[in-house]
Amino acid sequence: MNITRSDSADGTCILTFDRQGSSANVFDRATLDELDAHLAALEKETGIRGVVLASAKPKIFIAGADLNAFKHADERNLADIVNLGHGVFSRLNRLPVPSVAAINGVCLGGGLEVALACDWRVASLDQSTKLGLPETQLGIIPAWGGSTRLPKLIGLPQALGLILTGKQLAAQPALKLGLIDDVTHPEYLLESARRLLARGKRAETARRLTSRMPVSALVAAKARRDVRAKTRGHYPAPLKAIEVCAAAVGAPVPEGLAREKAAFLELVRSPECRNLMNVFFLQERAKKIQLPAADAKPRSAVSMIRKVAVIGAGTMGAGIAQWTSARGLAVRLKDINPEALARGMHAIEKVYADAVKRRVFTLPEATAGLDRITPIHTDVSLTDVDLVIEAALEKLEIKQQVFRELERAVGPDTILATNTSALSIDAIASVLARPERLVGLHFFNPVHRMQLVEIVRGPRTSPAVLEGALQFVKAIGKLPVIAKDSPGFLVNRILLPYMVEAVWLFTEGVPAPEIDRLMLDFGMPMGPMRLGDEVGLDVAQHVAKDLERRLPNPVPINDTLEKMVAKGWLGKKSGRGFYLHPTKGSHTPPNPEAGFLQPEKSRPSNPASRLDRMVLIMINEAARVLEEGVVDSPEDVDFGMIMGTGWAPFRGGPLRYADTLGAAEIVRRLEVLVRDVAPHFAPCWRLREMAREQRGFYDADAATGPGRDQTIQLNLPAVEPRLDVDVPLVSGSGPLGQRVMPAATPPSRQAAGVK
Ligand code: NAD
Repeated sequence: MNITRSDSADGTCILTFDRQGSSANVFDRATLDELDAHLAALEKETGIRGVVLASAKPKIFIAGADLNAFKHADERNLADIVNLGHGVFSRLNRLPVPSVAAINGVCLGGGLEVALACDWRVASLDQSTKLGLPETQLGIIPAWGGSTRLPKLIGLPQALGLILTGKQLAAQPALKLGLIDDVTHPEYLLESARRLLARGKRAETARRLTSRMPVSALVAAKARRDVRAKTRGHYPAPLKAIEVCAAAVGAPVPEGLAREKAAFLELVRSPECRNLMNVFFLQERAKKIQLPAADAKPRSAVSMIRKVAVIGAGTMGAGIAQWTSARGLAVRLKDINPEALARGMHAIEKVYADAVKRRVFTLPEATAGLDRITPIHTDVSLTDVDLVIEAALEKLEIKQQVFRELERAVGPDTILATNTSALSIDAIASVLARPERLVGLHFFNPVHRMQLVEIVRGPRTSPAVLEGALQFVKAIGKLPVIAKDSPGFLVNRILLPYMVEAVWLFTEGVPAPEIDRLMLDFGMPMGPMRLGDEVGLDVAQHVAKDLERRLPNPVPINDTLEKMVAKGWLGKKSGRGFYLHPTKGSHTPPNPEAGFLQPEKSRPSNPASRLDRMVLIMINEAARVLEEGVVDSPEDVDFGMIMGTGWAPFRGGPLRYADTLGAAEIVRRLEVLVRDVAPHFAPCWRLREMAREQRGFYDADAATGPGRDQTIQLNLPAVEPRLDVDVPLVSGSGPLGQRVMPAATPPSRQAAGVK
């Protein structure tokens, strides 16, 4: 039983959702049937004055639909699921007595759609309360009445603002928007619900200006233009949502529902939807990642991490300290330079202040978070800290020196971690008396936005230390991927060859904007030349050289970056790189002086071959990463690349995309590139084998791949709507803020580190 009924003397019937054996309420077929049975009974009763929908879960009203139902359903089942939702929610809407959704906690997707079918809605001021329709982030549209009832309730522009972004609103902004009718503290929810019931059935929503056809057509046309510009046509769901919502405003509800159903059934079959759902499953999988049985320590054997020290208060150290403190941990932040420490603390204050402004935190919460950080610049005992994360400069000798000193300052069980983006964990650990206590924790920049952390296992890292690092990453709400200690680990190993190949194209005479446009059109959030400028050309050059030196099959680098660095063109930080970066204004034209690096006449090549050079080089490298066991599975590769670089989520990641092309086709095209361009395109052994055996990356272990068949609940957008490319391997560069999804960034509580 997932819903319990209780009636009070005043004639109020309360239906309380409490999914058995689960911490979340979700809508599956059984719950919908159960709700339907309650409603059927209520229709026949006479003593009832009103119905309240509530939840017994502390932080969740209803988190959405059970996505597994979509995953395994055929066309008929899918249509049945939509019909069932439409039928039950319409029945709720047509009850002869008024109904209220009393919302405390997460109210997303189907959860908000059932609330929209009620006459009234009240939401609690609790921080867990979030209302939203994240379906377009998964490649579908709200199809249990959300795309029909929401625009009718709040108007087309406002409804599109929610549906196209997947934005999640707290109670106050939801009230302002007209999405709900009252806000109150959780303990007064029922009282408020009763007051709303006293208003009776809701009168037909007054026709808004936007329900008039010419106005809604104008709104829809503008929304369509905006979406096309942002998504380059790669995401069909937002366009469908605009069509369905615009038609719904002036039409009877049943017509709107019929349009929702047709659009949903069309979208759910699309490859974009399949891939976006997969990204969601990958995120859920990452939350549940465990060490292989041979390495796993019982949870109790790993001490809980409560106190953390961060060494280095620069871009990364400050970011890690802020995030960790926001998750309730005490942090000591150390920098040898008092001015750098002050700058770091200032940066942390700013992240907290922004979070307060965006209502992610209350002021007292932000103040408490800040208070949990103790800045230090002298040597103090660290015997009581459970974990130290080093984020000092990217120089082996400096890191070795830091760890030599740390080993003397910490307790016997303290875990030592480094945030290095490229150095060998084992080389750093070599100076330790107990090298097994060092692990890599590679956070991405900016820390408060990037969910991915690469946990890098050195050859001597002990299972207990690895387990401790994994527990820590999960405890602070980041998503882990475990990688072997090898050059570039996972993300930079695949990203760098692509950036180097892009520089080759530039050197052959292809203009930087043309190279970037190719990759933007492919679906990357930022082109490789602009990324180089953001990362810093000196840093990109340093790391590319390092990988060239350490990898057996590197992409050879040419002297273009070296010449640019010699001229002081370091990219954004110096104001000039492949583009100009003026201090004022957002216009960044190509660097007019960079022409001397290119031939007078560019080498002839067609755009398809240019695209192949950049995309297939990543796929070849990703295949090598698997071949060498840098990570365990294709899921790890795709997840790391999507979360770490914004790699075209609608394509499912480089290896999902490779499977859609087929190994034989990839090998064929790589061989063409070997013949026409350079030997470094030679397909790796694994790709050749797969081509010969006619199998894909995901076929190889499809039956046993971890986490492929879990029950997943729709309680988060598939992708954080704003994916930032890590500024890989960078010292002190600014955050990138480009989006992969069509939408503005919601004031997600995840941002800035809220639990
Ligand atoms: P940064 O230059 O912004 O900050 C480094 C800080 O370390 C400085 O404030 C410096 O004073 C301090 N420091 C130097 N030696 C120290 C010592 N012995 N003890 C205490 N403090 C010391 O550098 P960053 O960008 O924050 O990078 C830090 C580390 O994180 C590097 O290893 C880098 O490769 C890695 N990383 C950086 C990024 C990025 O995008 N910036 C991303 C991932 C990983």
